[in-house]
Amino acid sequence: MKNQHSLSTLAVHAGEERRGKFAPVATPIVQSSTFVFPSSREVQRFSEGKSKAFMYTRYGNPTLQAAEVKMAALEGGEAALVAASGMAAISTAVLSFVHSGDEIISSRNIYGGTFHLFSHVLPDFNIRTNFFSGDELDSVERLVTPRSRLLYIETPANPVMQIIDLRRAAHVARRHRMLLMVDSTFATPILERPLELGADVVMHSVTKYLGGHSDIIGGVLVGNKKVIGKIREMMKRLGGIMDPAAAFLLLRGLKTLPVRVERQCDSAMKIARWMEKHPRFSKVHYPGLKSSPYHALAKKQMHGRFGGMIAADLRGGRPAAMRFADRLRIIQNAASLGGVESLISLPVLTSHWGFSPEQLRSVGITEGTVRLSIGLEDARDLIEDIEQAAG
Ligand SMILES: *Cc1c(COP(=O)(O)O)cnc(C)c1O
Repeated sequence: MKNQHSLSTLAVHAGEERRGKFAPVATPIVQSSTFVFPSSREVQRFSEGKSKAFMYTRYGNPTLQAAEVKMAALEGGEAALVAASGMAAISTAVLSFVHSGDEIISSRNIYGGTFHLFSHVLPDFNIRTNFFSGDELDSVERLVTPRSRLLYIETPANPVMQIIDLRRAAHVARRHRMLLMVDSTFATPILERPLELGADVVMHSVTKYLGGHSDIIGGVLVGNKKVIGKIREMMKRLGGIMDPAAAFLLLRGLKTLPVRVERQCDSAMKIARWMEKHPRFSKVHYPGLKSSPYHALAKKQMHGRFGGMIAADLRGGRPAAMRFADRLRIIQNAASLGGVESLISLPVLTSHWGFSPEQLRSVGITEGTVRLSIGLEDARDLIEDIEQAAG
């Protein structure tokens, strides 16, 4: 499969082996921990790095490899590596780049688990992280020291769908000889391909859009052969590999990724526009709206669509937001995002639990903020659901 094909074609065909005695059209689950070698000579060739055979699933497995080839094709990277979760992907990648005494520079609005890793776990290993506001990329320059190794960003990012300029971030990283790692979970390769804009590693929680059906936990990293090869060595040591059954569901989910994301974005656009006019919502955060401070950048950087995630502030604070969430009938109250079913979550009860009103203000949200992940239900049905719950 040539990587010049369009994303929809790559999503269906890239990575699928379809060879051997039965040539199944869907790559099967190779549910085996270990693999048989025809001779000791072949084992020796494997250990010399001269063989493409599989030895042991923690080192590699045909179903995982198929998912990796498909992901590399979709992101326009040379290589990919799947992991047991988004957090396994992030921690394994970060630990292969930074060592005791090194520093990370990270945007502040990042996934809670990543923030915890950077601010509570890594300091115990003498790895410090300095945070900057994603709206002020220039401030990175002031945080750079001779020990800065990694620039880490997430775009679009919770809770207000903040967009960070990838080209500029890549420029800053290159100037200071840092690697640029991008959590592109909210964007998917359909809306944004950070490697083409200069990133070194792209990470996704495949738990979200890439799996797309709320039935697996997983992560993936994409980059050039050298970078992914280095992370793969660390993955062998740390062991956070994806299970072959999850890789099968990931492959299955990826085949419909382009159509799912297009529909989710189109519905989110309609719903965000409708919500913006509704008096119960004092603010709607969606990069597709002209009122969004990120609209111009999103138009430039994302591929003509703005994602399936919306945040909105309900008048009446936390009680109003809780009542709204409880009255919804189609949209389910659950954490996570990116699946076929629409979900709602309240940042003050989940990702931003325990934040003071002052801290909430500093990240741009209120006690009444709700976050919607738009699924594949009919957009009119979703609007009706929101209308009856907000009423
Ligand atoms: C969910 C999520 C993660 C963590 O992924 P897991 O699969 O839950 O480990 C990281 N980044 C973002 C943006 C996420 O939404």
